[in-house]
Amino acid sequence: MYDLIIIGGGPAGLTAALYAGRSRLNTLVLEKMAVGGRILMSETIENYPGFPQSISTVELMGRMEEQVRKLGVKIESAEVLELDCLKKEVKTTNGKFDTRAIIVASGARARKLNVPGEEKFTGRGVSYCATCDAPFFKDKKVVVVGGGNAVAEEAIYLSRFAQTVSIIHRRQDLRADSILQERLLANHKINFILSSVVTEIKGAQKVQAVVIKDLLNLTERDFICDGVFIYIGYDPDTGFLKNKLNFDEKGFILTDDKMFTSTSGIFACGDCRQKSLYQVINACGDGAVAADSAYKFISSQER
Ligand code: NAP
Repeated sequence: MYDLIIIGGGPAGLTAALYAGRSRLNTLVLEKMAVGGRILMSETIENYPGFPQSISTVELMGRMEEQVRKLGVKIESAEVLELDCLKKEVKTTNGKFDTRAIIVASGARARKLNVPGEEKFTGRGVSYCATCDAPFFKDKKVVVVGGGNAVAEEAIYLSRFAQTVSIIHRRQDLRADSILQERLLANHKINFILSSVVTEIKGAQKVQAVVIKDLLNLTERDFICDGVFIYIGYDPDTGFLKNKLNFDEKGFILTDDKMFTSTSGIFACGDCRQKSLYQVINACGDGAVAADSAYKFISSQER
């Protein structure tokens, strides 16, 4: 029987584990992929305070993991399949675990374009992770779809390898931070195809072209390229909680400012919950608050 099970080993989950470990809660972190979470899909992080030269995400998350393990917190590789919220039982691919409280820090997963060819060519030219796949596109032509911070950062990263990087965005303006947009404009390898969407990804064995629809004149054309990187946002990874908690219409968990969910003893933090800003810094803040609330909840049950 654990005091606390934390579902997810990204910045929110690891910070919750840090605070729980320091409160001497017998804590287990369950992570289905790599400890560190989705931020590992980016090479560096520039806006985490205290690192004026930026820091590699592998290094930052490695340090968080080390800090947590030093406190004796257990981290297991397992996917959570189901929760019994009443019994506080967590069913996973590695068996069942009992606990007194649960923190959900399951994060979010990359959204798909849902166009013909996307699934077929995933891993054969279609990618959701420039950090993982950019070296395969040395001196090649790639397109990057989206208009947020992720597109901007990953286009800049890709430009170190690719011959050209074309950003395809459905609006006339990007929503990425101004500082990133300035860098995009200054990069001679990066160009923009605006007010346009990708309607199909084509090829034989690998990606050879995308079909681009111009939303202003509604014409379509083939655009020759070797790679398609998709950064059109994220959906919360909360499918395993179906009908167990209250969610918003997009599937983000509803919490109060102390990270309480609608179910007693279950807390949520980080990118899986509804909030106004999705950054590593406030994922960590959420994690600290969730651990504090879980500690108080567990203590109140002992009285
Ligand atoms: P995002 O900010 O939600 O932007 C997604 C972009 O994809 C938007 O420009 C959106 O267009 C476009 N889009 C959505 N669905 C689409 C579709 N079906 N077809 C074509 N385009 C579509 O997502 P993100 O850039 O992946 O970032 C996710 C979160 O992580 C954000 O909160 C972001 O701030 C954060 N993040 C921060 C940093 C940083 O601070 N350094 C770096 C990376 C990510 P519209 O503009 O028309 O909606």
